[in-house]
Amino acid sequence: MLDVHAIPAFQDNYLWLLHLAGHAVVVDPGDAAPVNAALQAMQLKLTAILVTHHHADHIGGVAQLADQHAARVYAPAREHYTFAHAAVREGTQVRLPEIGLDLQVMELPGHTLGHVAYYGANMLFCGDTLFSAGCGRLFEGTPAQMLNSLQRLAALPAETVVYCTHEYTEHNLRFARSLEPDNAALERHQQDVASLRLLGLPSLPSSIGLELAINPFLRCDQPAIQNAAAAVALPAIAPQQPADTVLATFTAIRALRNRY
Ligand code: ZN
Ligand code: FE
Repeated sequence: MLDVHAIPAFQDNYLWLLHLAGHAVVVDPGDAAPVNAALQAMQLKLTAILVTHHHADHIGGVAQLADQHAARVYAPAREHYTFAHAAVREGTQVRLPEIGLDLQVMELPGHTLGHVAYYGANMLFCGDTLFSAGCGRLFEGTPAQMLNSLQRLAALPAETVVYCTHEYTEHNLRFARSLEPDNAALERHQQDVASLRLLGLPSLPSSIGLELAINPFLRCDQPAIQNAAAAVALPAIAPQQPADTVLATFTAIRALRNRY
C-alpha cells in the first residue's frame, strides 16, 4: 500500500513524502534536511521530486536532494527553475512506476502564474492553491484566475484526499466562522482540528467533500458567504450576473482574509 507521510518543515510547511516498497517521492521539498532524515529513518530511496510552484519554501531543498539521490524532478513549464527538471503542463502524465502511481498535472494560476497541482489515485497535491478552509494569497494571479483554479478543484470527486502544504487550518477556520457563524459543519470541524493540534498532529490531509462544506473560498456561491462579503465590502459588489456575484464575493473575502 502506498503510504503518504507529512514531514513538517519551517514554521508551518508540510513536505509530503509518498512511499512504497522502499521507494519514495517528495512533493515541494523546501528543505533537504528533514527529507533526508525521514528517508534515512524509513530506509527509503528517493526517486522523484514534484514541484508545484517556485517559492523558496517549496523548492529550497530540490537541487540538493536531486543531486544527492539522483532523483528526477518535475516542475511547472510556465516558471523558471535553475535546477534540471522535466517541465510539466496541463494534462502532463507524471509516471512514478517505483511507487505504482500516475499523476496528472493541472495548471492552476492564482498564487503564482505557473502554479500546478498533481492529481491521481484519489489524491491531490495542490501546493499553495487550496488550503483547508482557505486558499493561497494572490501573489501573481488575478482573483478571476484563482477562482477558476479553485472551481476546477471543487469539481473533483468529493472523496479526493487533499494534501495542502501549510498548517494554516486553525486561523482559516476562525476566519471562516467569522463569515459563516451558523455553519454547523464548520463548528464541528473546528473542534476536531483543535483536538488534533492539541496532540501536535497535522490537521491535514483534507478532502474535497470536507472543503466544500467548510471552505469559504469554495462557497462563494452560498448566500451566507455572499451576504457576509457584501456587509463588509459593499462597493465591490454591484453584480449583473450570478457569476459576477461569485467573483465579487471571492475578491472581497480574499482581501478580507489578507487583513484577518
Ligand atoms: Zn507559495
Ligand atoms: Fe508556501
